[in-house]
Amino acid sequence: MMNLILFGAPGCGKGTQAQRLKEHYGIRHVSTGEVIREEIARDTELGREMEQYIRAGQLVPDEVVIGMVADYVAEHGRSGGCIFDGFPRTTRQAEEFDRILAEHGLKVDLMIDIRVPEEELVRRILLRGRDSGREDDASEEVVRDRIAVYRRQTAVVADFYAGQGKYVGVDGVGTMDEVFDRIRAAVDSRV
Ligand code: ADP
Repeated sequence: MMNLILFGAPGCGKGTQAQRLKEHYGIRHVSTGEVIREEIARDTELGREMEQYIRAGQLVPDEVVIGMVADYVAEHGRSGGCIFDGFPRTTRQAEEFDRILAEHGLKVDLMIDIRVPEEELVRRILLRGRDSGREDDASEEVVRDRIAVYRRQTAVVADFYAGQGKYVGVDGVGTMDEVFDRIRAAVDSRV
């Protein structure tokens, strides 16, 4: 039973690496970005509200995401461990996450921070936007705003886990295999 947080700026490769980690360790994977996009695709009232934030490159409100993760942990938390991708993204989310996990007798084991320079992030996201059709990947302005939001609101979450001795930084530049090998080595030596 291992709960990992995959952390890093938009475009750092979290989704790709989460998929590999999931297969390698046989644990679950949940991406809050994906959960939000599914809600938007269902065209619910909540989905329409969240779409406004995503379009503007902003984070959706903490309460909404925290509620989604609380539901997920209640349903799947005790079934063998999970990779949390895109969450927590603010200090408040991190604090609430510890509380939610503790309610189920669970904890975070390790945060893996995939580190990539800004120009490489922008290049990767715009490239991805050509195929993915993700609206928030198509405009350089929105991409730069998301990276700015990451620096302003999200980067500090690393300090929260570093304070608990649960942080590891990994160089995210290289082939997908190279990055995966670094992550696997970090997990195997720490968890
Ligand atoms: P990326 O990391 O490339 O931006 P994601 O799929 O993780 O892609 O997230 C897409 C968008 O969904 C974010 O820009 C943000 O608006 C919203 N989002 C995802 N996770 C969270 C979260 N934990 N808190 C607030 N907003 C979130």
